[in-house]
Amino acid sequence: MSTATETDQVQTNTCPNCQGVLQSTKLKAVLLFGAPGSGKGTQGKILGTIPGFYHSSTGDIFRSLDLQSEIGRLFWEYAGKGQLVPDDVVIRVWKQFIKGMEYTNQFHPEAQILILDGLPRNVNQARLLDDTLDVMKVIHLRADMKKMVERLRRRALKENRFDDANDSVIEKRLKIYENETKPILEYFPAEKIVPIDAMQSQIRVLTLILNVLAPLKDDMDKQAPK
Ligand code: ADP
Repeated sequence: MSTATETDQVQTNTCPNCQGVLQSTKLKAVLLFGAPGSGKGTQGKILGTIPGFYHSSTGDIFRSLDLQSEIGRLFWEYAGKGQLVPDDVVIRVWKQFIKGMEYTNQFHPEAQILILDGLPRNVNQARLLDDTLDVMKVIHLRADMKKMVERLRRRALKENRFDDANDSVIEKRLKIYENETKPILEYFPAEKIVPIDAMQSQIRVLTLILNVLAPLKDDMDKQAPK
């Protein structure tokens, strides 16, 4: 389990292509955490438009995969039933994706904080990401079940999300959230968890999140090499 001091340290490795230059390997990240329908995606998309932040949603990454590909098919098979995609697949796909974003100059780990939406989704995934992520804060968007089900039903119509269209699939996803995802809140140190009432208006929720992110970005900028 990571501790505040461990995660504050940036792990260093010798980069094979950098002739001995030390490269920082842990990505600074803030987790957007909450049940399906709590507003992670909506807030994450807005945050990703702010300079210094990079929004990454595993759901969006999977939905962008070619349906004919093996992983694309696997995703629809699991997501269609409201189940989680197997951990090893998720971690592999996400790592490849984020590396691709870095190589194509779309994600700048030295200057941007990752806003992770939908990852990790269980304690095992959190463990598997321990050597990759420096989790600065976990923003816990809290909303009541009734509101979340309402939002998911609305989203099914608006965004054509097949996994929101069926009440039994919605129920299954909320159950998985309770049983598998929520224990993540015990995995990270309590001082990193920031509960936010997600029943408020989007602008109010956004304001509260920005109050958390602004000082993190200030610190990151202070530490950046001049
Ligand atoms: P929501 O937050 O509404 O559940 P997402 O877009 O985050 O929607 O995820 C949609 C589906 O993608 C999930 O139900 C799951 O099948 C799959 N998925 C996304 N992220 C993960 C993950 N970290 N681990 C396993 N499956 C995932």
